[in-house]
Amino acid sequence: MIACVEENTMDNIIYLDYAATTPVLQCARDEANRYMTMFYNPSAAYSGAKVVRNAIEEARATIAECIGADPEEIYFTSGATEGNNIIIQGVQRLSPFTDFITSEIEHHAVLNLRQDNEYILRVDSNGLVDPHDLVGALAEGDLVSVMMVNNEIGTIQPIKEISKITSKANAFFHSDITQAVGHIPVNCHELGFDFATASGHKFGAPKGVGFMYIRKGIKLPPLVYGGGQELGLRSGTENTSGIMAMAAALKWATNNMTQNLKRMEKIQRFFISELEKSGFNYSFNHTFTNHYVGNFNICFTGYRAEEIVEFLSSNNIYVSSGSACNTDSGEPSHVLLAIGLTKEQAESSIRVSISNITTEKDIAMLIHTLAVYFALRGDVT
Ligand code: PMP
Repeated sequence: MIACVEENTMDNIIYLDYAATTPVLQCARDEANRYMTMFYNPSAAYSGAKVVRNAIEEARATIAECIGADPEEIYFTSGATEGNNIIIQGVQRLSPFTDFITSEIEHHAVLNLRQDNEYILRVDSNGLVDPHDLVGALAEGDLVSVMMVNNEIGTIQPIKEISKITSKANAFFHSDITQAVGHIPVNCHELGFDFATASGHKFGAPKGVGFMYIRKGIKLPPLVYGGGQELGLRSGTENTSGIMAMAAALKWATNNMTQNLKRMEKIQRFFISELEKSGFNYSFNHTFTNHYVGNFNICFTGYRAEEIVEFLSSNNIYVSSGSACNTDSGEPSHVLLAIGLTKEQAESSIRVSISNITTEKDIAMLIHTLAVYFALRGDVT
């Protein structure tokens, strides 16, 4: 049994960007340290190495149990970017004459693998796909990729409805579960995925480790060739300390999910009511149904998100304008444009993402600092 202390170790910082990455949980640090000390190559023949090999297989079983899968359906990777590429490019090479169909609000690690004229699933103003759009649009061997929780606006997609349609058409279904796993219940067998991908650093593990779920019986060609680790699909010496840390973090997140969600629901209610009272000119870029409780995407019309983020940062409050992976591009968020925002509205939107350790005091401080910013800026209209 792994003990896990959860604490806010970010002295003086109010961190509200958990969708970008999460602090490493104490239980994950302990496991990482243990397997840095126990450094043997798990493929070696001596007994110490076998201990490490066994630990990795235990971690595989732990992860499988947390997401309703069998251990042999779990493959370790460096994260969701790699996993998405292995799966999508793998299927594209397995069946080159079929289509890859994805939604317009996917992460770029999915979206950028789309060829120009392939069908794209539109979303409504809440960021929801309509599974019926797939009916009649699928041929055998096509690959549909729809993320479970959106990283910018928190929309939870109708995964089960989609998988019913893909399985009827003998098409493959992949879901990027990066923002879901460890946060909301995910059961791969029940949801009917053929493939799913995730990154450990979104649920309390270090960066640079992740996993794929690949349904039993499906064999993909590898992207990278080498020593044949991970059943030949992902060669390279295993990131043993990362893998062990990830399993510990996911176990903790899964065991504490109900309680964490309850705490966050309370913070969500507080945040919404404080915003209502604030007198700010704001709107949420999503509703709160079919939506992950940890995410808020808010438009402050007339103000530039980049400036707000910078002002908050200078006051030790960390939020994001769009997704962290996009901020270097300077482009307005493709997700916000897809749900119908104008370029100006998209550029006036910030993402606040919370966790189980976020407090009402953190939110009150955010609201207070925003009020200072708006007062300093004056009326923009
Ligand atoms: N998919 C989603 C939904 C994400 O939020 C992210 C990280 N922002 C990724 C994929 C990529 O994860 P990583 O950078 O860890 O590979």
